[in-house]
Amino acid sequence: MNSEELRSVLKQIADRAAAFRESRADAPHRPLCTYAEAQAAFDAPVPERGVPVGALIEELATLTEPGLANMVGPRFFGWVIGATEPAGMAADWLTSAWAQNVGNAHATPAASACEEQTGKWLLELLDLPRASSVGFVSGATIANFTCLAAARGEVLRRVGWDADADGLFGAPPVHVVLGEEAHSTVFSGLRYLGFGAKRVVSVAVDDNGVMKPGAFAKAVAKLDGPIIAIAQAGHINSGGFDRFAEIAEAAHAKGAWLHIDGAFGLWARACPERAHLGRGLESADSWGVDGHKWLQTPHDSAYAIVRNAEAHRRAMLIAASYLPAGSERHPADYVPELSRRGRGFATWAMIKSLGREGIAAMVERHCAQARRMAERLSAESGVEIMNDVVLNQVAVRLGADLDGAEADALTERTIARIQRDGVCFVGGAVWRGRQIVRVSVISANTTEADIDRSAEAILSAWRAEKHANA
Ligand SMILES: *Cc1c(COP(=O)(O)O)cnc(C)c1O
Repeated sequence: MNSEELRSVLKQIADRAAAFRESRADAPHRPLCTYAEAQAAFDAPVPERGVPVGALIEELATLTEPGLANMVGPRFFGWVIGATEPAGMAADWLTSAWAQNVGNAHATPAASACEEQTGKWLLELLDLPRASSVGFVSGATIANFTCLAAARGEVLRRVGWDADADGLFGAPPVHVVLGEEAHSTVFSGLRYLGFGAKRVVSVAVDDNGVMKPGAFAKAVAKLDGPIIAIAQAGHINSGGFDRFAEIAEAAHAKGAWLHIDGAFGLWARACPERAHLGRGLESADSWGVDGHKWLQTPHDSAYAIVRNAEAHRRAMLIAASYLPAGSERHPADYVPELSRRGRGFATWAMIKSLGREGIAAMVERHCAQARRMAERLSAESGVEIMNDVVLNQVAVRLGADLDGAEADALTERTIARIQRDGVCFVGGAVWRGRQIVRVSVISANTTEADIDRSAEAILSAWRAEKHANA
């Protein structure tokens, strides 16, 4: 491809991308086609001959765009998904153009230095111990996994066992203690590490899914030997925070490693009005947090943060003779992968674009918007908010005045109707034995007017389903 052709392709995708973004506010917030339709659209034999880039990009966009959720839209409240803001997107495009494999600092010093500096910014914004190490990983799933791998090595090393060399066969058993409602991906991490998803001590939680600190302390006090405890900043349905000061004290009294899953909630630390929620979590040993949720970086982006940088490195180091060593920070030493994209650039760009003040204001705005949503919804009779709206999550129960099974079925149909209507997008979950509507306010594009319009869309779908059922 010559330079003129390359410029023409880049211009073509810039125009496409801008048109896509411009259309998002008014576009339906659900995908326009089903999975089967998307499959049918892509169904094709292996191409025998190459196709020019301009043409295949047009084709790719035409095949793809009908099957995309409107995750950039201002009324997208599904799961917990950030909006990929322009600064992060732009840095990510350049990251692809620069084509760096960022495993090693000698190969690509700027990528490593950018991660190192961005890591320092993250520690400051999240107010975590400044000497911690930071690995730039794909998501909180892998951030948690990476931190727990460091934990596994370290708690076993302290009892004289080298898990990295000798594995887990014959090793002293490691106790894993966590809340009954820990995020499902934490259990995935435990499985990858040979701990088993079920071989855990499960601590009772309160109505917000927050661990009962007394129950935690009692459970930990009973254990002997190496212990890893896992607490949570930001429960997936309630946004609730474990009581870190009490948990850390009980955990550390028994020499446990305390890990915090803070996929989105850890960002409360970057916001003076919300920071009290995470009080005490700075005394933990490791933290997993996403960029692609609250920081609005492009996917994929998350950070594995470990107080004991040596434990982090021991768990992740890749020793290969063709990789030059040295005192530089090698990005691969802190993550499971060797070859990967330079994730630091998009994070640097988002922090630069928002600034400390912008991040704090955004987090606070989302929390206020979540409260506004909760107020609007609960003004309707039979609509109940099931959580304390301390953060950005609203767990909504529809039909609190109806029979439970009937209310659950109606709620499921209401969620489907809301999604079909497309004004906003919400998901559902079963929580505390009830079908709920989950509203997660986390898009940089959401305004108060979007909250009001969405609350009205949710309530009118609910009224319509009740009416259809009557
Ligand atoms: C989203 C989330 C995860 C998983 O994060 P990914 O970025 O999807 O891998 C883990 N824990 C909590 C609390 C989450 O909200």
